[in-house]
Amino acid sequence: MSEGTKPIIRVRNLCKDYIAGEERISALKDINIDIMPGEICCIFGQSGSGKSTLLNMLAGLEAPTSGDIFIGNIPVSRLSENDLAILRQRYLGFIFQSYNLMDNMTAVENTALPLIFKGVDKKQREELAVSALRAVGLGERLGHYPSRMSGGQQQRVGIARAFITKPKIVFADEPTGNLDTKTTAEVMDMIKSFAKKYNQTIILVTHENDLAEYATRVITLADGKIIKDTRKGEDKNA
Ligand code: ADP
Ligand code: MG
Repeated sequence: MSEGTKPIIRVRNLCKDYIAGEERISALKDINIDIMPGEICCIFGQSGSGKSTLLNMLAGLEAPTSGDIFIGNIPVSRLSENDLAILRQRYLGFIFQSYNLMDNMTAVENTALPLIFKGVDKKQREELAVSALRAVGLGERLGHYPSRMSGGQQQRVGIARAFITKPKIVFADEPTGNLDTKTTAEVMDMIKSFAKKYNQTIILVTHENDLAEYATRVITLADGKIIKDTRKGEDKNA
């Protein structure tokens, strides 16, 4: 644990079952984790190991079957849909594998979108979006639509959008899954440098070994259980 600070995310005895027909699938089995502010935490494991399920629970996108999740002192797993929406607007950012940009919106409009929900006025939204896009190297693409941009450019818009509200935690599920090696490195360097600059916590889901390199901590899942939990510079089995 780092110097007396409190965890930003706490997970206690988390279980998630899915019912598929007659079958009950235990996607997460008694997960316990403390994540500290500023950690770049990689959730690593093979396809089907429960990574996305865990990310979705941490972000309040899906409800656990049992157990508790806290972001700071907020009991995420016990909030109403309405309070969850407010929590996400105030504190969380998201980066998706398939970028999830709005096709009919320009780079500036896509980037500014989370600010609408925060009640920021139009002029200020645009100014903030332009500076966020410049920060990800897209100053020349401000008026472009997603269909006119490469995958790497689209994901950089996705990054600008995720960070524009200066969220406490950014969740990224396979953010480079559709990108080539060189673009992957650029995108990951960008995510890491923003996180460092604003002391943000990153939850990065991936099945790729190379991406775990960017993390300060790697939590490995297999079959819904934590089989390894390693911080840079130590090697403790959980
Ligand atoms: P990963 O992201 O590591 O590939 P997931 O978290 O998506 O794994 O899935 C974990 C397990 O839960 C898998 O066996 C998957 O088939 C199952 N699962 C995930 N979502 C659902 C769902 N909505 N309904 C039924 N089973 C699901
Ligand atoms: Mg997944």
